[in-house]
Amino acid sequence: MGTSTEIYSIIGILILFAAAVLLFWMFRIRRNQMAERRITMFKKAFDVSEDAVFALSENNDILYANKSAVALLKLPPEYLHRPLEPMPKIRIKNAWVALDTFLQELPQTKRDNMQAFPHSSFIVETYEHSLPVNLYVDRSSLGTGKEQFCYVITVRDLTKEYECRELEHRHILTKLPNQLQAKEDLNKLFAKIHLHNKKMALVLISLDNFTQIRSILGHAQVDQIIVRFAHYLDQMAKSSSYYAYHLASNDFLISVPIVETADEVVYFCRQVQKELRTFYKINNVRFHLTASAGISIYPDSGSTLQLLDHAYKALAEAQKEGIGHVHVYERSELEKKYNELTLFNAIHEAIDKDEFEIHYQPIVRTKDQEVVAAEALIRWRHSEYGYIPPDVFIPMLEQSGFIIELGRYVLSEVLKQQKRWEVFKFKPIEVSINMSLLEIETEGFVENVSRQLIEHQVAPELIKFEITEGVAMQNEGQADRQIEELKKLGVSLALDDFGTGYTSFAYLKKFPADVLKIDKTLIDYILENEEDQRIIRAMIELGHNLGMKIVVEGIESKEMVDLIGSYGCDYMQGYYFSKPLPAYEFQEMIRR
Ligand code: C2E
Ligand code: CA
Ligand code: CA
Repeated sequence: MGTSTEIYSIIGILILFAAAVLLFWMFRIRRNQMAERRITMFKKAFDVSEDAVFALSENNDILYANKSAVALLKLPPEYLHRPLEPMPKIRIKNAWVALDTFLQELPQTKRDNMQAFPHSSFIVETYEHSLPVNLYVDRSSLGTGKEQFCYVITVRDLTKEYECRELEHRHILTKLPNQLQAKEDLNKLFAKIHLHNKKMALVLISLDNFTQIRSILGHAQVDQIIVRFAHYLDQMAKSSSYYAYHLASNDFLISVPIVETADEVVYFCRQVQKELRTFYKINNVRFHLTASAGISIYPDSGSTLQLLDHAYKALAEAQKEGIGHVHVYERSELEKKYNELTLFNAIHEAIDKDEFEIHYQPIVRTKDQEVVAAEALIRWRHSEYGYIPPDVFIPMLEQSGFIIELGRYVLSEVLKQQKRWEVFKFKPIEVSINMSLLEIETEGFVENVSRQLIEHQVAPELIKFEITEGVAMQNEGQADRQIEELKKLGVSLALDDFGTGYTSFAYLKKFPADVLKIDKTLIDYILENEEDQRIIRAMIELGHNLGMKIVVEGIESKEMVDLIGSYGCDYMQGYYFSKPLPAYEFQEMIRR
């Protein structure tokens, strides 16, 4: 009896053991199946990706390649677990390196985090052309238990994007660089112009009576004329080291980077006009074409920022006179007030000569109209011109990079002022400082702010930085880190000129602003325009939903205060309350 019980218990234990082993096996099989399924799923996902994705072992063996990678690297049928040959080359910052060398040379920290190398070039030796690409490198463990790693490399081909970009920058009919390209080139040209102390010119050339010609000759013929004219202008421009652009229908722009006198440019226009007379024939009969031209010369016709506008004005003058005229823009008395070149040369000494001054414009709380903050606005007290507004000289400072020095000066002046107010027991208020793109891009910006705050012993809560909407957007990514660091110091941040740029909602949500400043241009017609009223209301609501406070700037009347106040905006700023004032005048408003 005893033995049979023992036998049963042994059998029972054996059955239990077998069941446990079985369960364990089933579990492992299932886990492997799941892992397999997952891998298959990932493979499928990567296979549909247009980006080439491949994994390399530390010995350069191919561990995985999706379809795009197989095509890009021209891999043979049995490529898995074989070395990648030939080794592709990539170019980053003008140097070509083999991919494996590049991977080995990546610093450890960069290797461990997904690293992006935008706008690199990529070439496989069997290829003739290199591709513009974005390259991503990720180092990942192989999960084998041993310390084995692989590189996951993603290559995004940018050829199409580049082609699109190229197309976007050319006129669809004539293939000449278009308005967009002109704008980019002019910005670069303007940035350099101060360096060589030379003159430059812009010329707008427009074929006369164009609508009439179109109605006589019809679309197809006119398009032919335009194409030929564009080609001719381009040749002419190139032979004089000028640049030709096709802005719109019959308007062309010529930029002349260096010029001695206006006569040279007028001569160029006369040549073009002369050629036009005999330029086009229909059935062997000459078709008499004429063009008008408007010229503006920097610095004679005004600042670089106005140069294109002035060329348009000159063209309008020429067209008023009839057909085939050339007009050079003359400045009005008011415009002659500031000579940009004189200012440009003087501005570098202005700090040393103590010619800059900070004015403070009050910002009031809507509910009780009490002054709770101020915006620091820079003024230049010029010995000859008197107070020069920042719109005239900030662009010059940005072009020369001097804005960084000015920014530091403004911060130190504001901090000194804050300390004085604190010592003399004025009411504490937050002061906003405008910040330009160049400043945030500059290495050491945050460190300087931090150092100055400590040096002057001012609480960071009393300082706010204003960044304009356009600038914040342009620099998405790069400036984000600096902005984050800045916020860590305890200062606050305002998104300035809101409503003038193209801030996407997604970006706005991410942007760590405490305050949204709605631009003056949006409320200029608010009293009479219901559409504007709706927009402002929606903007205020949007800002509030994102947890931001709202400042509306440019408030000029009691009616505006009442209307905009009723929308729930938190703070207001504008001439109605006060213009920007020197510190000693402003402080009367915060005396206790
Ligand atoms: P912003 O930041 O938009 O400054 C507001 C401008 O609107 C100021 O012009 C101010 O005087 C003006 N303003 C305020 N209320 C009213 C109003 O009710 N009606 C009208 N018509 N205008 C009003 P300001 O002082 O000429 O400054 C122009 C721009 O120069 C500023 O625009 C800012 O972008 C820049 N700026 C000024 N100071 C500095 C500075 O220290 N650093 C940098 N980077 N930029 C500065
Ligand atoms: Ca501002
Ligand atoms: Ca503003």
